[in-house]
Amino acid sequence: MLHKKNKIGIMGGTFDPIHVGHLVTAEAVRIEYNLEKVLFIPASNPPHKQGSIVTPAIHRYIMTIMATYSNPHFFVSGIELERYGLSYTIDTVRALIDCYGASAEFYFITGADAVKELPSWHDIDQLLDLCYFVAATRPGCISYIDQVIKQFGAKGRRSIQRLATPELEISSTDIRERVKKGRSIKYIVPESVEDYIYKEGLYR
Ligand code: NAP
Repeated sequence: MLHKKNKIGIMGGTFDPIHVGHLVTAEAVRIEYNLEKVLFIPASNPPHKQGSIVTPAIHRYIMTIMATYSNPHFFVSGIELERYGLSYTIDTVRALIDCYGASAEFYFITGADAVKELPSWHDIDQLLDLCYFVAATRPGCISYIDQVIKQFGAKGRRSIQRLATPELEISSTDIRERVKKGRSIKYIVPESVEDYIYKEGLYR
């Protein structure tokens, strides 16, 4: 008898802060790929952000928990916060395979811009063997995603997929700037995250 694989989404990101664009994307991918759950994994020490100022991981982790709490299919993992050193995705995926076993199939969900940088990711060849990538795309970025897919040949065609998600021109950078300038972030982040940002004095 054939056993169906557990399909698990991994929503990796710096989440500085998490916003409704991330939530809408994760939900769209969950439904499209029939995922059992989506694990949100805030990067503790993002490898490509060395030298940039990133909000302490504990704040980003707490905001991620608050933002996802009401969705019964969303979970937050502190796996990258518990690990020392740079938050390489390959280490996270290996740890999840150890935890869930061979019956699980992983879908790493991330933004199209992040996928553009995939060729430079640590151990990318093995990573493409261990999980699928789902690139959330907006019109205009399809051609460069296709270039990345082509660059990896058959492995790229098998492991990198793109999904047009509802168009929300929201970015964490824009939210940080809005807070700094005293502009509203209402409805761009969940209310609990908005309250947390003001209470903790983030992004001023
Ligand atoms: P980033 O470089 O800050 O983001 C690039 C773009 O993708 C931004 O527009 C960002 O929008 C968007 N984005 C990021 N995560 C997203 C998600 N889950 N869903 C939809 N859009 C997303 O990317 P990052 O957040 O730091 O990194 C993304 C993930 O890739 C993290 O898990 C990180 O650890 C991993 N990564 C791993 C390696 C490696 O292993 N060597 C290298 C680079 C990245 P917002 O700013 O609005 O989020």
